[in-house]
Amino acid sequence: SKKVVTSRRKATTTTKAMLSSSAGPATLEGYGSCSFKGAVADKYLKEQGYDASLLKDLSWPKNEAKAKAVAAALLSWATDNGAKQYSHWFQPMASAGVRHGNAGCLQMAMFDFDADGVPYPSFSHENLLQGETDGSSYPNGGLRATHTAGGYLSLDPLSPIFIREDTMYIPSCFVSYNGDALDEKTPMHRATEAMSSQGKRLLKLMGYNPEGDLINNIGLEQEIFLTTRSAFYNRPDLQFTGRTVMGKDAARGQELSDHYMAPISRATGAFETMKQIQAECYKIGILLKTRHREVAPNQYEFAPMFGNVINQIDQNLMVMQIIEEVASENGMAALLHEKPFAGINGSGKHNNWSIGTSTGVNLLNPKQLNKASGNAEIFPVIMAALVSAIDKHGDLMRLSIASPGNDFRLGAMEAPPAVMSTYLGSSLTEYLEQIKNGKMSEYSPEKKSLSFGAANVPDITVPAEDRNRTSPFPYGGARFEFRAAGSTQNVSLINTCLDSMAAEAFKIVADRIEGGEKPLDIAADLLKQHEKCIFNGNGYDPNWPDDAVKRGVWRIDSGVDAIDQLDSEKNVAMFSSIGVFSERELQARKSVLLTYYTGVVEMEALTMIDMINKHVIPSVKKADVGNPNKLNDGIKQIKSALKKIHGEENETKQAQMARSLRLETMADVRKVCDDFEAKVPAEHWTLATYDELLFLDTFPEGEMW
Ligand code: ADP
Ligand code: MG
Repeated sequence: SKKVVTSRRKATTTTKAMLSSSAGPATLEGYGSCSFKGAVADKYLKEQGYDASLLKDLSWPKNEAKAKAVAAALLSWATDNGAKQYSHWFQPMASAGVRHGNAGCLQMAMFDFDADGVPYPSFSHENLLQGETDGSSYPNGGLRATHTAGGYLSLDPLSPIFIREDTMYIPSCFVSYNGDALDEKTPMHRATEAMSSQGKRLLKLMGYNPEGDLINNIGLEQEIFLTTRSAFYNRPDLQFTGRTVMGKDAARGQELSDHYMAPISRATGAFETMKQIQAECYKIGILLKTRHREVAPNQYEFAPMFGNVINQIDQNLMVMQIIEEVASENGMAALLHEKPFAGINGSGKHNNWSIGTSTGVNLLNPKQLNKASGNAEIFPVIMAALVSAIDKHGDLMRLSIASPGNDFRLGAMEAPPAVMSTYLGSSLTEYLEQIKNGKMSEYSPEKKSLSFGAANVPDITVPAEDRNRTSPFPYGGARFEFRAAGSTQNVSLINTCLDSMAAEAFKIVADRIEGGEKPLDIAADLLKQHEKCIFNGNGYDPNWPDDAVKRGVWRIDSGVDAIDQLDSEKNVAMFSSIGVFSERELQARKSVLLTYYTGVVEMEALTMIDMINKHVIPSVKKADVGNPNKLNDGIKQIKSALKKIHGEENETKQAQMARSLRLETMADVRKVCDDFEAKVPAEHWTLATYDELLFLDTFPEGEMW
């Protein structure tokens, strides 16, 4: 239709205007200027008689004089940087949005009025330390009734306060009046604390006493798609649900493998958008170190420098928000969904995971650990403990990545299947085999030299082992990489599970050492019981999932069935033994995850019905390419499935029904729509096509017609 073409042409102008602008960190100056830590905080805290070291001792909020000094320093910093509002910034439960992390914030003006009604800048330590909001208006899984609905916020001293636009954000934890966690951050804190105290206990029993807490370090690789805003506005499904519920394949996909690491497109505005995203993140102290094109057309990735899990999660939520904001300012739309398009790769968020000491010794790096601790027995004991944790609690790992979007991604040729095994590589596996058989030696894999077979090209050194990309949780020399995490996810539940599992395993080993057993005997015993979850083969091999079940490795194909395990007897016992979740909290969280899942499917179903009625049927009729009866039948099927879901009271059953509506009924209806799309002449097709959404460089928008 004419109207559609006009709006496409308008967007071309935006793209061109945008190309002449320039942004990006030209120098290292300005890094972190909007993040209250280090030199930035030092300057303002000195005005109050302190310095930045005040913030290092996390107990400062408990000391009134220090809290007052921090509030005064923040007010002065905020004023200098144009911030006039402050906000406690928190992460309601299940804050994996269909579009992004959806952190919550109530923005409050930073001024007060004097007796004459004249405003003056004001921000007190009470304002800083705590806040309150309505706990019943967020997903709470029955933890808050509407009539007793307070939700309480406490500042998180681990995560730096930052300024974006005119607002100062105070990362905060969010609980109910009874102290039940209503958010993703509070359990994350509890889990790292449990991991640290049990880990330190174990290390101490083995003669190593590192200073400070143990830290869970993570680095999150964020994959996204970028498309044009105008095409996005011609797709109600992308706007409402983040994914296309219909759309015929383009004539070209990723078969030439010509997108991965290709130059970042300038013609489409992607390059400028990526640069600006980096620059905005840079200001608030987020160093996005890597940027590149990914495997699918129009797919991109950013990866930051890794660090403390608490900071990294906050930063990732902000990265997702900034990606969407900057894209929209540049006439583009960022798609963070796990599977925006059928037939090509979806997006993940690899969660690289390791444990370190406060002075930077990585416990998963054998050389570093052996050197720092002087005890080569610690590494195999830690590895055996982690293997036992993965084997016992693969169900938790599986459920932690059960975001609705991941339904379409797991087990395809782009992400590992729903089997929770670990890849350790042959050298580490052989080493642990020796430990299992009672033969102790020091593990210190040597790097090897790699020749390129040409005299003029210098040899390089590479790790002892090649890497694995088909395991959900491979060990890569100094870290595990949880490759199955979904791109929209707030990864708190993932790391809360991993840290809790590690905490429990460390506790079990420490208890046994205190009971008189030798550490290496415990390691051997754990390996005997749990080595079945080590799988060094090809995780994409179609026989592997069945073989895994025979071995007794956790495999839960349906994300909904996985979520249903959250409050199983085993999991309640595990989480309560280390004080991370109470049974009530687990039940509430399960309810939130299930209703969230069903809600997402319902939106997708209603959107599909609307698109068929408002776009597909009219196009088919106008072009006169066949009888639209099958489309009307499809609508009836979807409506009747929705009715059944509404008639069901059990939340697990509802979500199971929603899952089959989505993966079966809606997939069949989609096929009917896509077959019609193939027949309708372009001028009569009113939705943006896969060609337009995915091949912006091939078909610069607006010039296609
Ligand atoms: P690849 O694609 O090869 O896995 P990338 O460089 O894209 O690697 O991303 C790796 C991510 O892992 C980065 O965010 C990096 O900072 C992070 N990382 C590296 N070492 C560790 C570690 N010891 N613990 C946690 N994260 C790490
Ligand atoms: Mg990667």
